[in-house]
Amino acid sequence: MSLQPADIEVVGGRLCLDFVNTRHSHFDPQPRDYLGDYADLLRWAQDCVGALSPAQARRLARAARAHPRRTEATMAAARALRDRLYRVFEAAARGAAPDRADLDALNRALAEALAHRRLAPDAGWQWRWEPEDALELPLWQVLASAAEVLTGDDLSRLKQCPAPDGCGWLFYDVSKNRSRRWCSMRTCGNPAKVRRFQQRHRA
Ligand SMILES: [Zn+2]
Repeated sequence: MSLQPADIEVVGGRLCLDFVNTRHSHFDPQPRDYLGDYADLLRWAQDCVGALSPAQARRLARAARAHPRRTEATMAAARALRDRLYRVFEAAARGAAPDRADLDALNRALAEALAHRRLAPDAGWQWRWEPEDALELPLWQVLASAAEVLTGDDLSRLKQCPAPDGCGWLFYDVSKNRSRRWCSMRTCGNPAKVRRFQQRHRA
């Protein structure tokens, strides 16, 4: 079943965190994967998080049709990146250092991605990615976002929707008093409240 943008809540507050949240839940050994194929990745990037313009997504869809083998490899790389970023950010949310192998792999992927970044004097200076039809382009955007979060954000605001009632999704808490606990009240916060209420009544 292909990804419908309404299926997935965008609650991470940062592109890289929303990318990690394309599987549900992190505490489930066989979670639902919203990224079934490259078309899903493009729909997510364009319609869910607005990282790709319609023209960019069309260009990448054309490139994917022309290169099915490379598209498969890109999806394998996307899933590996998602697992790695999950481990790095899950550790960061606990205030822990990442695994050395994950950090090395992340740095290699980042160096490769940033080698494709160009300054362009469009309407105001902007970052662009070259070539524009590279299948990895959405992953490059995710990697750049991950580097920005790790170097520029207040990591004490990086949180994980908690076990056992939550789903393990990651999010950046921008609430004034840092009180956000759940990825979303609808999917995790309210059901957890209901469960606690029922447990109290049974007890
Ligand atoms: Zn949750």
